[in-house]
Amino acid sequence: MDDPDEELTVLSTILDRTADRLESEREYLTELDSRIGDADHGENVARGFREAADEFDPTAVRGLDEAVQEIGMTLLSEIGGAAGPLYGSAIRSGGKALPTSDVSAADTVQFAEAYLDALADRSGADLGEKTMLDAVTPAAHTYKRAIDQDGATPVEALARAVDACERGVAFTVPIKATAGRASYVGWRSVGHQDPGATSTLYILESILSVIEDAGDGSSTRSASVPETGAGDANA
Ligand code: ADP
Ligand code: MG
Repeated sequence: MDDPDEELTVLSTILDRTADRLESEREYLTELDSRIGDADHGENVARGFREAADEFDPTAVRGLDEAVQEIGMTLLSEIGGAAGPLYGSAIRSGGKALPTSDVSAADTVQFAEAYLDALADRSGADLGEKTMLDAVTPAAHTYKRAIDQDGATPVEALARAVDACERGVAFTVPIKATAGRASYVGWRSVGHQDPGATSTLYILESILSVIEDAGDGSSTRSASVPETGAGDANA
């Protein structure tokens, strides 16, 4: 995508769609959090992303990197709870890894890696502790592998990442929480799905649906496929 205004418009649409999705899942996410936490996760993420969507002004930012970092700051302060600083700092770090405009497939891999690194760092948790890290880790690794090794387009790579994320969410169900507030309920957390992993999946699904709509994938070019012409496999 080489039109900076178009990139910021897509970003704005992603925020709106994510906020809509999280609002429609607010009660379910809160119900998940009521089983192993304090029943506020749906409210937290729905409020945070709605605020980020409402506050976002594409004309007030220099470029994509700055825009994403600002969104991270808004989420950090608006979501609250444990998830706010985690979502906020991970998105902010991801934004730092992006260019001002003309984002390439390789740039989106940089975003995913920076997001995962910042989340893992901030979280202090390891894989298998029943947190959003269990959803983000397979999603980010799958995304990177699809682009770097398989030459997939970002849309195809993200579709695979969503599948991996979904499996990560399912993985949180049978395990015992040993990090975050859910660790307080110990063995009673077994059998319940992690709310933060679940909201992560909804966010990724929202992003995928926007970039699918943004036009047959050709708006986000692949690292290994020519941008135009017969060789453009972005379908
Ligand atoms: P709180 O736990 O403060 O009420 P939320 O309910 O908004 O915050 O978010 C809970 C989610 O945050 C959990 O489902 C989990 O995915 C995530 N989370 C909490 N603590 C951690 C942590 N240390 N590392 C990674 N994720 C965490
Ligand atoms: Mg909570």
